[in-house]
Amino acid sequence: MIKAEHIAGLPEAPLDTSGSPGPAGPPGQPAAIVLRAVQKEFALRRGRTVQALDGVDLTVRAGEFVALLGPSGCGKSTVLRMVAGLDEPTSGEVLVEDRPPAALVRDHRLGVAFQDHALLPWATTFANIALPFRVAGRAVDRERVGALIDLVGLNGFADARPRQLSGGMRQRVAIARALVLDPEVLLLDEPFGALDAVTRRRMNFELARIWAERRITTLLVTHDVDEAVLLADRVVVLTGRPGRVRHIEEVALPRPRGRDITRDPGFHETVDRLTELLDESAE
Ligand code: ADP
Ligand code: MG
Repeated sequence: MIKAEHIAGLPEAPLDTSGSPGPAGPPGQPAAIVLRAVQKEFALRRGRTVQALDGVDLTVRAGEFVALLGPSGCGKSTVLRMVAGLDEPTSGEVLVEDRPPAALVRDHRLGVAFQDHALLPWATTFANIALPFRVAGRAVDRERVGALIDLVGLNGFADARPRQLSGGMRQRVAIARALVLDPEVLLLDEPFGALDAVTRRRMNFELARIWAERRITTLLVTHDVDEAVLLADRVVVLTGRPGRVRHIEEVALPRPRGRDITRDPGFHETVDRLTELLDESAE
């Protein structure tokens, strides 16, 4: 099993994503998330069903950042909800660290930030980020919460309530909260979906920086191609519903990826190729 400290010890860790990871992720790293022949059907009224996913196979390796890209309604959130233990496949298998996701949820080893970040409106930034400690029945590690506030650049806003923060700041609170218990796996469902384009891009670079420091296994759902290419080691493109894996793109762009990455011709080539695939998926 991968322990958080293996991932946190970045300088020594044998994680080098500057090379091109193999089809199943960085070579030599164990699989952290595995979806095997996952099919998902939802029951509708009058005995009708809708098939959201069909035969999805996907492996995310420890320390890897994978983006899941696909047209609206193709089952991206369904994938993430199953990995988060909030739903189960109709057939097939979802494993996190070789166990059913529920086991990791019980141990508070999964960090989750979804689009509706669900901050407690009456609670301060500090209290919102500290919430997982309370949920887990643990004493709040004030130093840890302070370090996260620092990491996401919210110094000076520890005592602010969500309504006193901008949209981007609230997203950062949600991401800090997802990270506070040192999760082995980070799940992000369109975490920047509600932001304007400029703020969204800034948040992308912040997330890239945070991920570079911690290298937590991350699965990000997005429909923004630039965002996927900026952040991910691999981009998985799903077909329209029922979602199937249509294409897996290894993003060979160098890290760390800062703003100058958008001047890299490789960036635009990759974005163009994936945009075309996504457009075909949406048809
Ligand atoms: P995405 O996140 O890619 O936009 P979702 O995973 O949310 O797509 O949904 C995939 C499909 O499954 C959609 O057609 C959606 O309407 C359907 N769906 C999702 N959740 C449920 C549910 N709880 N009950 C019925 N249908 C659902
Ligand atoms: Mg969704």
